[in-house]
This record gives sequence, C-alpha cells and structure tokens, in this order.
Amino acid sequence: STASPFLDPGPLTTPGALALVHLSRDNVLPVYLSNDSGMVDGYAEGAVINTRFGSFPHSTLIGQPWGSQIRASIVDTGSRGRKRKLGNFTDVDAAGNDTEAAASSTSNTKDVKTAATGFIHILPPTPEIWTSSLPHRTQVVYTPDYSYILHRIRARPGAQLIEAGSGSGSFTHAATRAVYNGYPKGPEDRRGKVWSFEFNHDRFLKIRDEVQDHHLNGIVQVTNRDVYNDGFLVNDESPEAECIFLDVPAPWRALPHLSRKKPTQSQLASGGLEPLKETSSEWKSPLRADRTVHICTFSPCIEQVTKTVEVMRRLGWMEIEMVEVAQRRVNVLREKVGLNMPSERGMNQSPRNVAEAITRLKQIDGRFKEFYKDKQDTDVNMDDTEAEKKHEGENKDNDIVESNADLGRSPTVKPWMAGRLVHRTEAEIKTHTSYLVFALLPREWSEEQEAAAFENWPCGK
Ligand code: SAM
Repeated sequence: STASPFLDPGPLTTPGALALVHLSRDNVLPVYLSNDSGMVDGYAEGAVINTRFGSFPHSTLIGQPWGSQIRASIVDTGSRGRKRKLGNFTDVDAAGNDTEAAASSTSNTKDVKTAATGFIHILPPTPEIWTSSLPHRTQVVYTPDYSYILHRIRARPGAQLIEAGSGSGSFTHAATRAVYNGYPKGPEDRRGKVWSFEFNHDRFLKIRDEVQDHHLNGIVQVTNRDVYNDGFLVNDESPEAECIFLDVPAPWRALPHLSRKKPTQSQLASGGLEPLKETSSEWKSPLRADRTVHICTFSPCIEQVTKTVEVMRRLGWMEIEMVEVAQRRVNVLREKVGLNMPSERGMNQSPRNVAEAITRLKQIDGRFKEFYKDKQDTDVNMDDTEAEKKHEGENKDNDIVESNADLGRSPTVKPWMAGRLVHRTEAEIKTHTSYLVFALLPREWSEEQEAAAFENWPCGK
C-alpha cells in the first residue's frame, strides 16, 4: 500500500497528497491536492484555494518541495457563492472563515479577478500540525501533553498501543508515528500498531475514514466499542499491548479489563465496580505477558484521578504517579516604546497630547543624532546580550540612547536590535490541561518461572 503522508511524505508534493496549507501560525488548512485540469467547480484553472492572501491554483502547489513558500497567482476565481468541498476547492480568509460572504460584498459579478497579494507555505502533514488543523469532534490531546505521555508510556517502534477513546484522532496520529517501524522484515517482526477504541458510532466512522484516507491501515485499527463493558479484545484476539492511553470520562471502569488475570469479584466490589460481563469464551488479557505494561490516564478533574488511583492500587498497578503538564509559551521580543525619556512628569510617562509627543520626538531625534555623530558601527556584530550590556554600561545615566534605539531609526542599530528586550508569557495557550496518571504493571511471573529462575541461579542452592 502507499506510504502514509504522515510517515513518509516524500520530497515533493504530489497529486492526491494531503497537504497542510499554512496561512498563519493559527490558521492551517488541510487540502488534498488535485491535478484536475480544465474546469473544476467552474474554475478554468482547476482546483483553487482562495485566501485573503490571494489565490493559489493547486497546479502551483504540486511538484514543489515540501515547506516551499508559494506566491499567489492572478486567477479568474469564477463562480462564487457555492459551497465547495474541502480538498478540491476552498475559500478561506486569514481567520479561516469562508470568504463567500466577503467576496459577494465586494463584487456582485461572477468573475472576480484576485490580485496576487501574498504567499502561503505548503507543509507535509505531521501529527503536530494535524493537531492544530484537524476537524474537532471532541476535546483533543495537544502536543505538549501527548509528547510527554508517549515518552512516559514507552511508545516506541514496534510497540502495541491501546488507546480509548479515539475522539478526534489527535493522539492517534502522534501515537502512530511513535510505534511505526516500517514494514515487517520477517515473520518474527511484529508491526507497531495503535489499537484504538471509540464507542460513539459517528466518531468511529469518521476516524475509520481518516485512517483510510491517511493510508494508516494496518498501523491503526479502530474498533467501535464501549470499553467499560466490552474490554479490549478484537475479534477475540489479544492486542498484547504494552502501552496504554485512556482518555475516557471514567478510566477506572476500563481498568478491570486491563489486568493480567481476571479480577476477582471482591477486587471489583471493593473498588465499587460492577461484575464483569459474562462471555461465552474464556477470559483473556489484552496485555503482553513478558513485558512491563505502562499506562497513562487523562482526566480533567481530581475526583477522576482519585478514583482511578484507588482502582489501580486494587488491581496491582505500581509506581502510580500524577503529573500535570503546564506548558507556557514565552514570547521574547523587542518593544519599540520610543518615548521613554524624562519629562517634567518623570521618567517613562506617556505624552498627554500630540503636541507633547512631537516635542519629545524632536528632542529624542536631536539627542540621537548627537550621540551617533562620531560613533562607528560598533554594536552591529554583537549578539543581543553583549550589545545590551554595552548599552547598559555606556548609558547608565542616560536612558535616551536606548530610547533612540527604540525608535528603530539608528543608522547603526539593526532593526532586530532596536527596542527594549522584553519577554511575556502568552495568555492563550492551546493545551487542554488535564491530570495525567501514570502507572506500570510488572511483567507476568509464575511459580514455574520463579522456580526455574531459582534453579538456574548460581547461588540458588
Ligand atoms: N484523545 C482524543 C484526541 O486526542 O482526539 C480525544 C478523546 S475524547 C476527549 C473522548 C472520547 O472517548 C470520545 O470520543 C468518547 O466518545 C469516547 N468514549 C467515552 N466513553 C467511552 C467508552 N466507554 N468506550 C469507548 N470510547 C469512549
């Protein structure tokens, strides 16, 4: 089968490939590139992406190295006013909104010429970008959480990983890349696989189609299942999993199915759990017997954590630990304040009116010219810290030079050096903060194995 674009996109964009069109940091558009020529949806150029930054016929996006910057083309955007399907034709503005309304407000005619105004970047699909552009059907697990989770549950090439529920498939894609080990080289070689379970039928169908479209068949197996009641066997076969991730409202209800042996009635009753459903076939563990199994559960409330930990303890899980990932993005930038100079009202006071602002700008400009009159281009090859120190040292009693640099008009200070260096944490962070409970279940160890180990042990007798 064709390699998945998520795992091996190849060097160039190709017809039919899933591409992520990067419009801005927070606006990435998934598009299937189409090489249909001639009229497509009324467009003479074939499929076209229309954005606020210009129009991009798919023909200009195909055969490009991934990551390329693509300039807008001047195209006849033809008949507007119809909803076009994603991947063939898409009209979006920079905020990701459909631009049909915007277009019709600027023109009543059907033939709108769009000027070449900007550019986009064409990126290969990765789990990280997919997470920020995927169609949200549920809350999703974001990159800061899943990168840490996958590391802690030891998801690695060749691993068998159980996931419930699949939700919008954000975690699924990241897990797939973590367990992917190419194609098996021999009969002993087990292919890494994500065993994903979802009980909502619509979501199950969507993720199943997505797996198909992204060529992840054989690496992801999605099952429509209520894991609380029906566990994790697939067609009565054990996934023999060694990594588990549970993102369901009551993870403790799924835990009895994730045992090495069938839990006893008293174990279940003491944890406040229902008896397991009787099945005609013999109880089987979905876990790999000869390896330690690592689990993570993802819950937004501490009450869910308490319940999960209690049931984990009763079922023999060890090294139970809770972690919360609190990721913050720190923006470091230069702020062009410009007017931070002494005034009769004190240092760094904003001007009260335009006249005062102009007077101050003139003062700044004058002192700025004075300062740089004899100064050679000394700062420009220094790194920020050195330059910063130098400014601080030279101008201890004179904030104005720094203010002049703030204006960015210095012939000697490079634009990126102009302004005061500040850092701020971003208010809006795209992580759904939840509590992560980690635990492990040691490998199975029987009386016979113990006896054999003792027998072979040099000091055993
Ligand atoms: N981790 C997913 C992602 O990154 O996109 C999001 C999972 S979403 C928060 C939780 C999902 O669990 C929902 O789609 C829900 O339908 C599913 N779910 C809830 N209870 C379940 C159960 N008993 N068995 C299987 N799936 C279940």
